[in-house]
Amino acid sequence: MKGYINVPESFNCQRCKHCGSAPIISLADHGLYLLKCPTDDTHYQTKPGAIDIDDWNIHNARLYDNDLKMMSAG
Ligand SMILES: [Zn+2]
Repeated sequence: MKGYINVPESFNCQRCKHCGSAPIISLADHGLYLLKCPTDDTHYQTKPGAIDIDDWNIHNARLYDNDLKMMSAG
């Protein structure tokens, strides 16, 4: 049995860079979690395991400029 959980806003996730949807937490097999785009399974999703907001954010960062704003803390 599978289900989905909305990511709390306090997690401060990027939206899907392809379609702009907020990611959801999907319950994968073996009690693992992954973050995925709710719209399309071909859009980025993290590997099953712990909920990895950082990984999602890195892969969905909007690279409009080449500096490292995305790396700054806070
Ligand atoms: Zn998407």
